[in-house]
Amino acid sequence: MSETSDRAGKPRELRSINADEAERFLTEWGHKSYRTTQLLGWLYKKRAGSIAEMSDLPLELRDQLSGAFSLLPLELAREQRSRDGTVKFLWRLADGELIESVLIPASIGRDGSQSDRHTLCVSSQVGCAYGCKFCASGLMGYKRNLDAYEIVDQVLAVERWHLAKGVESPKPEPLANNIVMMGMGEPLANYANLIRALEIFNAPWGMNIGARKITVSTSGLAPQIRRLAETPQQYHLAISLHGATDEVRDKIMPINRKYPLEELISACEAYQQAKGRMIWVEYILIDGVNTGPEQVEALSGLAKRLQCKVNLIPYNPVDGIDLQRPSDETVGRFRDALHHKGVRVTVRIEKGTDIDAACGQLRLKSEKKPAETQALGQAG
Ligand code: SAH
Ligand code: SF4
Repeated sequence: MSETSDRAGKPRELRSINADEAERFLTEWGHKSYRTTQLLGWLYKKRAGSIAEMSDLPLELRDQLSGAFSLLPLELAREQRSRDGTVKFLWRLADGELIESVLIPASIGRDGSQSDRHTLCVSSQVGCAYGCKFCASGLMGYKRNLDAYEIVDQVLAVERWHLAKGVESPKPEPLANNIVMMGMGEPLANYANLIRALEIFNAPWGMNIGARKITVSTSGLAPQIRRLAETPQQYHLAISLHGATDEVRDKIMPINRKYPLEELISACEAYQQAKGRMIWVEYILIDGVNTGPEQVEALSGLAKRLQCKVNLIPYNPVDGIDLQRPSDETVGRFRDALHHKGVRVTVRIEKGTDIDAACGQLRLKSEKKPAETQALGQAG
């Protein structure tokens, strides 16, 4: 594979290159090395939407770049704002596929203060192959992996959207300063593109977002968790557990049959050992499925073994899926029972539910024609 084209010979997208690659082809083309910093600055700091915008690069270089690379910004197909300030973006990709990202502003503190933390929930695939029984993306099935630039540009495009509103960012840092890979798709199933995108988010020559502000959420691909443990960066890992025994997890997450709990938990231990960092366990509470006392018992055992924090998320109902959110009383009882066993536990209040923007519950239903919607089982 050449630096400037992919396996199919298509020009590569400029916003998937890293510093080493930029340095290599710019040197090969006979340019001075400071052009590397300039080019990366245009791509990842000034968030250029076209090569033509890169005004301080010589015309000859801009021509060379246009000849060798593509630069295809995501097209904003729709923007929806929730009452609580959450914004859902629907992006159209170059091949017409649709993906979503969700921008979640920090909560206002009890003292009325508001931090400048904005979380962006980012998609990693079109659809998802893992078929978890409760999930809208799983219902849709798998279409394709996102290329690294399609992951990266979800963040850049939100920055461009923000600047276009005339709200000049007071700081050079990105608006979205907390990235969670919890959108559509299984990030660890798109490993190479994910790692390149994370490198661009994190690197000083890229978006310079601290690794501790970047979370990868996985349904439990044990071998890839071990692989991620070997990377030097301190990315944060969240495990979508949702069942604390193989019996319950097998029913709702087919991946558990491939990598049962013991295999998953020991991969998590390896990750923790390598990084010296706390893992989060996400646990959706689904009425009558995973809220029993035996789950409390098993979950507290796992949480103690991993010394992790457990995040409980009351299930967000999805059209076409016959599962319900438990009562507040059941949620409270589950939380208190874990707490009494010494587990650090929180209940996550989903934001943006009035526009179906809850992170991990991304849906494109409204964008599909009725016939298409039905074919997809009303998912998205
Ligand atoms: N594939 C990855 C990341 C995307 S899903 C993973 O499974 O971790 C992000 C999170 O949203 C996961 O924890 C997922 O289980 C959760 N989720 C999916 N559908 C949901 C729903 N209807 N209500 C609440 N959480 C949901
Ligand atoms: Fe895929 Fe995650 Fe949804 Fe499971 S929960 S179907 S792994 S996106």
